Amino acid sequence: MDDRHHRIAIVPGESDELAYLGWEVASERHLTQATAALEQAGVEYRPGTPEECRARRVVALVACQDPAGNQLELFFGSLNEGQPLLRPARPMSGFVTGPLGAGHAVIRVADVQSCVAFYTEVLGFRVTDVSPGRMVFLRCNARHHSIAFMAGQDRPGLQHFMCEVRSIDDVGTAFDLCQQRAVPIVASLGRHANDEMVSFYMRTPSGFNLEYGWGGRIVDEASWTVSHYGQASIWGHAGLGSRPRPAAGS
Ligand code: FE
Repeated sequence: MDDRHHRIAIVPGESDELAYLGWEVASERHLTQATAALEQAGVEYRPGTPEECRARRVVALVACQDPAGNQLELFFGSLNEGQPLLRPARPMSGFVTGPLGAGHAVIRVADVQSCVAFYTEVLGFRVTDVSPGRMVFLRCNARHHSIAFMAGQDRPGLQHFMCEVRSIDDVGTAFDLCQQRAVPIVASLGRHANDEMVSFYMRTPSGFNLEYGWGGRIVDEASWTVSHYGQASIWGHAGLGSRPRPAAGS
C-alpha cells in the first residue's frame, strides 16, 4: 500500500479468519511500556520469535490476545529494506497510510464493553464515537478510528477492513472494476455519518468485507468530543448491516 514492505499479509490457514492485527508503537521504550501495561493488567503475552519478526519486517513484537480472542501484535521498528514507493497495479493515486496506519478494522464481538475497556485502559486507545447499543469506534492516532467493535454473537470476527485512497476517482474506478469482475458489492456508495468516509463495501473471497473509501475524518485531539450516532450513513451504503453469507466451506 505504500513504502512499507507490506501492510496486509494473506497466509494459508485452516479457516478464513483474521490471523492477527499489528499495532505499531513509536520506539523500543514504548514497546517496553506497553508490555508492562499488559503485565500489570494480567494479560498473557509472549515476545515474537526471530522468525516472526523477520516475516513481519519489524525489529521486535509482543503478541497477546484481546478479550474477544483476537490475536494482536504490538511492534516497533518497521524495517525499511529499500523497497520502492507504491507502484500500483492499476493507475491510482495511492493509499492514505503513514502516521494514520493501514486503515481500520471492524470486529464483531459478543462483549463490546470488555474490548473497549481493554483497548482504552491497557493499550491506550481513545473512544472517538459511539453508536449506542451497536458499535464503539476507537482511535490510536488522528484517523477517526483504527478499530471498532460491533455487537453480535453470531459470526464473531473480522466484519470488514477499510483501505482509504487519496482520490474519490479511485473509489469510483474500484466500484466499476468490482462490477466488471462480478465482485459482490455488499453496500453501495455512501458517506458515513461519523468518520465522513465516502466508500463502498465489497465481499472478499474470505467472507469478510473490504471497505474502499476516501475522505476520512481527521481527529483534532484538543477539540474532540465523543458523539453518539443513531445512523451509520448520511446517504447511500444501501445493504450495510445485512447479514453476511457464511464463509465458503463453513
Ligand atoms: Fe468502516
